[in-house]
Amino acid sequence: MRVVDLRSDTVTHPSPEMRRAMYEAELGDDVYGEDPTLNALEAKAADRLGKEAAVFVASGTMGNLVSVLSHAQRGDEIILGNKAHIFRSEAGGASALGGVSFHTIPNDERGMLDTDDIQAAVRPNDPHMPRTALVCLENTQNMCGGATLTQDDMKSVADVAHANGIPVHVDGARIFNAAVALEAPVSELVKDVDSVTFCLSKGLSCPIGSIIVGSEDYILEARRWRKMVGGSMRQVGVIAAAGLVALDNMVERLAEDHSNARKLAHGLAEIPGISIEPDALPTNLVFFDVEREDRDELHRLLVERGVKGGGGQKRWRYVTHYGITESDIDYTLETVRDAFSNGG
Ligand SMILES: *Cc1c(COP(=O)(O)O)cnc(C)c1O
Repeated sequence: MRVVDLRSDTVTHPSPEMRRAMYEAELGDDVYGEDPTLNALEAKAADRLGKEAAVFVASGTMGNLVSVLSHAQRGDEIILGNKAHIFRSEAGGASALGGVSFHTIPNDERGMLDTDDIQAAVRPNDPHMPRTALVCLENTQNMCGGATLTQDDMKSVADVAHANGIPVHVDGARIFNAAVALEAPVSELVKDVDSVTFCLSKGLSCPIGSIIVGSEDYILEARRWRKMVGGSMRQVGVIAAAGLVALDNMVERLAEDHSNARKLAHGLAEIPGISIEPDALPTNLVFFDVEREDRDELHRLLVERGVKGGGGQKRWRYVTHYGITESDIDYTLETVRDAFSNGG
């Protein structure tokens, strides 16, 4: 049976070229700093994002955790959006493991934070209060439909934060999707912020891995925290090899995912029972509302016919990625149209 897995871009498998590179990778012990393939990946990532240094971590969640703990001390508070992945979807790690509390402010529809809200959330220097240690942004913003923040957006946040002596971290799990959608070099996009994590394991199609970038000193601190959370690995060049291929060959092709997402969104918009703003779609995440009571049944029917994704609440998400072709989008639209017209 044909399967179109639209659950997430995390389901991507490495390309044949990645598998070859992994097989052939030169290896060493990275805890001694001796894995040449990983060293090359970290250098390339730092250069690509225009920062001094980079460190490889096991996942985006570990990247954000290590990043927050490297910026904030126990008892500190960080300012972030109420739809931030760090706040909602990382099991409260920074609080549980780092003693850091979350001060949330609203994300607007496009994932942006209001700079007045940020200023108002910064704590004065008062011993009753926690110290504000960090402002976090997310780009693209997952819960806000994969919306992109521009360089100007990020600069306006950085200006307020920096004026208060506070650094800015970007959860850039999909920062390359943002850069490709905005047609901006990723280094330009992130030039005003202090640290960024990005995932190799999502649209860039690597099996495992994320990277944190920032200043030399910051990345040294991040290496210590990575060790503390058990994230230092040994012959990690086996997975880093895929990351090198990803940065060379898998970034530009994200535009295909975006165009497939647009096609999917426009097609879904024509199906009765589905509501979506197809023109608002910026990247590879397609969110839509299923205005039907029988949505569990519809979801079951779609999964039976190989179209995976959505389900649960009224708001469903389909994600385009490497391995999903334009013809898969046609098949998806046909299958959804059919299920919705015949009912579950
Ligand atoms: C997926 C994701 C992460 C975490 O990445 P994992 O590798 O799944 O831990 C962090 N932030 C955002 C916005 C994400 O979408």
